[in-house]
Amino acid sequence: IGTIGGNLAMKNMHHGFPSDLFLILETVGATVTVVSSNLSKTEVKMRQFLKTDLKNKLITQVKLPPLSRTNLIRTYKVMPRAQNSHAIVNAGFHFKVDVQRKVTSCNIVYGNISPTFINATGTENLLIGQNLFTNTVLLKALQKLKEEITPVETPPEPSARCRKTLALGLFYKAVLSLYPEASPRYNSGGSLLQRPVSRGTQTYETDKMLWPLNQPIPKLEALTQCSGEATYACDVFSGPRTVHAALVLSNVCRAEVLEFNATEALKMPGVIAFFSAKDIPGSNSFTPTEVPWMVADEEIFATKNILYYGQPLGVVAAVTRRAAEAAAQVVKVKYKNLNAKPVLNIKDALESHDKETRLHKEVTIEPTRKGTDIKHIIKGKFSVPGQYHYTMETQSCATLVTENGLVVRSATQWMDLVQVAVAKMLNIDANRILVEVPRVGGGYGGKASRSALVACASALVAHRLNRATLLVLPLTHNMLAIGKRSAADFQYECGVNNDGLIQYLKVKYYSDCGCSFNDSPASSVASVMTNLYETDTWKIEGYSVLTDTASATWCRAPSTTEGTAFIEHIMERIAFATNKNHIDVRLTNLSPKHNTLREMISSFIMTTTFNDREIEIAKFNMDNAWKKRALKISIMSYPIEYSWNYPVTISVYHGDGTIAISHGGIEMGQGINTKMAQVCAYTLKVPLEKVTVRGADSFVSPNAMVSNGSITSDAVAFATMKACEDLLKRLDEAKRDLNEPTWEEVVKLAYEKGINLQATYMTSPNDGLMGYNVYGVCAAEVELDVLTGNHIVRRLDLLEDTGVSMSPEIDVGQIEGAFIMGLGLWTSEKLVFEKSTGRLLTDRTWTYKPPGAKDIPVDFRIMFRRNSSNAAGVLRSKATGEPALVLAVVVTHALHDAIVDARAEFGYMDKDWVVVESPYSVENILKAIAPKIESYKLTYKR
Ligand SMILES: Cc1cc2nc3c(=O)[nH]c(=O)nc-3n(C[C@H](O)[C@H](O)[C@H](O)COP(=O)(O)OP(=O)(O)OC[C@H]3O[C@@H](n4cnc5c(N)ncnc54)[C@H](O)[C@@H]3O)c2cc1C
Repeated sequence: IGTIGGNLAMKNMHHGFPSDLFLILETVGATVTVVSSNLSKTEVKMRQFLKTDLKNKLITQVKLPPLSRTNLIRTYKVMPRAQNSHAIVNAGFHFKVDVQRKVTSCNIVYGNISPTFINATGTENLLIGQNLFTNTVLLKALQKLKEEITPVETPPEPSARCRKTLALGLFYKAVLSLYPEASPRYNSGGSLLQRPVSRGTQTYETDKMLWPLNQPIPKLEALTQCSGEATYACDVFSGPRTVHAALVLSNVCRAEVLEFNATEALKMPGVIAFFSAKDIPGSNSFTPTEVPWMVADEEIFATKNILYYGQPLGVVAAVTRRAAEAAAQVVKVKYKNLNAKPVLNIKDALESHDKETRLHKEVTIEPTRKGTDIKHIIKGKFSVPGQYHYTMETQSCATLVTENGLVVRSATQWMDLVQVAVAKMLNIDANRILVEVPRVGGGYGGKASRSALVACASALVAHRLNRATLLVLPLTHNMLAIGKRSAADFQYECGVNNDGLIQYLKVKYYSDCGCSFNDSPASSVASVMTNLYETDTWKIEGYSVLTDTASATWCRAPSTTEGTAFIEHIMERIAFATNKNHIDVRLTNLSPKHNTLREMISSFIMTTTFNDREIEIAKFNMDNAWKKRALKISIMSYPIEYSWNYPVTISVYHGDGTIAISHGGIEMGQGINTKMAQVCAYTLKVPLEKVTVRGADSFVSPNAMVSNGSITSDAVAFATMKACEDLLKRLDEAKRDLNEPTWEEVVKLAYEKGINLQATYMTSPNDGLMGYNVYGVCAAEVELDVLTGNHIVRRLDLLEDTGVSMSPEIDVGQIEGAFIMGLGLWTSEKLVFEKSTGRLLTDRTWTYKPPGAKDIPVDFRIMFRRNSSNAAGVLRSKATGEPALVLAVVVTHALHDAIVDARAEFGYMDKDWVVVESPYSVENILKAIAPKIESYKLTYKR
């Protein structure tokens, strides 16, 4: 929380700030001592403190009043995630009671209701002289609270309705917790979710005969990264002529740029230049369409039409980063034709007058038959939210000017795109651009095509000024200017028989591409949807949709996330409609080609004691009204396809026989370098310590395809293996002349014989690597606090088929990380746009909440499939980078069950499917539960 003084001073300045400290101090009746510059002291109560002008004053003391056992106090805070977040609503309750439990004084305090609301004075007055611990008084108090608490809408904060529901729920929680005699069924509402310290197990096999391949080892760079010594693109020597750049972003959506006025900005100390589209000597595109997969040119800086709020319009260069960022705010932009209402999501686009230009049909799949045994018809809609690529390193690029041209040190997953885009932008030869990538501080797809925008801006400044240029996007710019995961909407109708077997399924889906069709996942969503179950009765139409937001891009498990989530949602709906077990419904529809998965499911049910736990959970829910548990299984078949080119170069040094690798894959935390060192040491039969892996560059690894799609480690491993085999062949000549030589002796002799000790290989489609499926089964056990909408994942079991893992610890890390990223997508992360302007409101850590350390499963168990060997995979392994993310949707299935159980406590007898919007945030969960205060009681009657 920082310091007490700082926190209270902030509350003094911003009354809307939901300070937890202020709330607690106000609840207990504390005072604050403020000292003026003339040393006069004033002691004021908390409310008075808010009216105190703190100018030239210092908070020196906070005094807590003495309290006794007759002071009953409870304070609460409900957050979008378990910690490191301000409150959605915080509340403090302080009741002073006499021996008959009558309230003699009370203090009911809430935060984040409105900037002016502090105490619920009406309810406080009502309670004086009353025994709070009776059903009648409790209901009266709740009714009064409901009347007097009127939160104001302040997006992106959760809705007023949500905050009101929370305020009432917290009051009831406080009363329950102060009244142990309440009915045991209701006692569960008085406590908080119990969350012990997380623990995890990782179960995998390792074959020592293969080591160092398949050996569990930490990531090679782990220590350097933990100590903060690892260097990234912009960690370069910053000489006296280095300049810092900052982007000028549009602060409107859908308008035309008329003119720029940078006069004031250029007058600011240290500011050197402002460049816009007209300063670009070549092509104003960071997505040149001669690069594979790019279907449309996207402007580096808008020339005329602005397509979204936050679009880059130009770049300022200054001697410090702070000066550049400050000046970028001061560049004035004149716009015209500002009136169009932004189209911010798929629903808006489908209703817009220019719908035809926004929709592009990507896929049609026709059914080959239709079943006739239709007993239940299910109709509905399903949505998958967008997601920010929450990387530690934001988009960044350092461009150095050398006699050979530009060295572009880009935080990119795609060196080749950066090289082509920069060369074309500057109208210079590609061989005068060297792209270097020491490593990337998290990519998740966000630094695939999008990194070229930042690289172009940095290179433009360097080229124009002939000076080294650093451009590191601040977090807010990164969130505003750069596209995110494509959201998706599905509309469906499905007919099933009494066993839940699908007789027909009609689906239309839409992928939100933002302002350009580049990187649309829409074409592959259908192939993912049809990869798990029997699909000959399915009709599918898929569309890409343009909206007035930053062009969306691939985000870890693109298309597989929405394709799998949708079809698993359908399975849940079928189970509900037919009243069949959710696992049986899946098995009924499962394609016969996935026998491996069938086996995995049955062993998984046994090892996780799934059936026993289901019984325990049913009993828990019967005994507890205000905490609900649920357990669900979800499955996946994640398709892996190889494509394009990944080069590798291996150099062996004659002095000591050590080996260095540089490859066209990008190390972005996924552990590709560690795997390559293991593959190389295994193939050459040398100790792992002999091998080092260097950062990537476009001279050693020209024309390398983007590192994404989980396949890069496999593809680069294949090239590494091939290059090593080539080296071994050459070394045979030296080996023949020696008797049982050491590696070092062979290398030395080879050198003396003039044998080339450098080998390269490029994996390409010519190698005929076959695709395969990654299978997974996952069970989530959740507990929901019905009164707050908060939940914990009590236990998570995840079984994945990794083949023969190249590096088990790396793969465990990938599986755990992917799952948690999916958990964030489905539970806590939310992109909220301002409807009138199109501005992203959740553009910083204050408002955007990926999961923290206390949001991960309490008991997290990862298992690799036993005795697995992937005949199609490189060295019999399977990819692990993305697949586990798609399994995270299981948490929503479990929460859905818990929500339905919770609704029953409020008297809802749900015959229809309860619609819950994603993400399953506090707000959406409470909206779905729709609590009624009449059910908040102390004594229980059946
Ligand atoms: C990600 C994030 C999460 C957060 N979550 C929470 C949360 O859950 N709950 C919560 O309550 N807060 C939260 N905060 C806010 C945090 O509590 C405040 O930033 C912090 O309390 C400020 O204290 P500081 O010591 O850092 O003050 P500073 O930033 O140093 O100062 C803030 C202001 O107070 C003035 N000031 C400092 N001390 C005094 C003094 N003694 N007398 C007079 N003026 C003084 C300073 O001049 C300055 O104007 C969060 C902040 C972040 C960034």
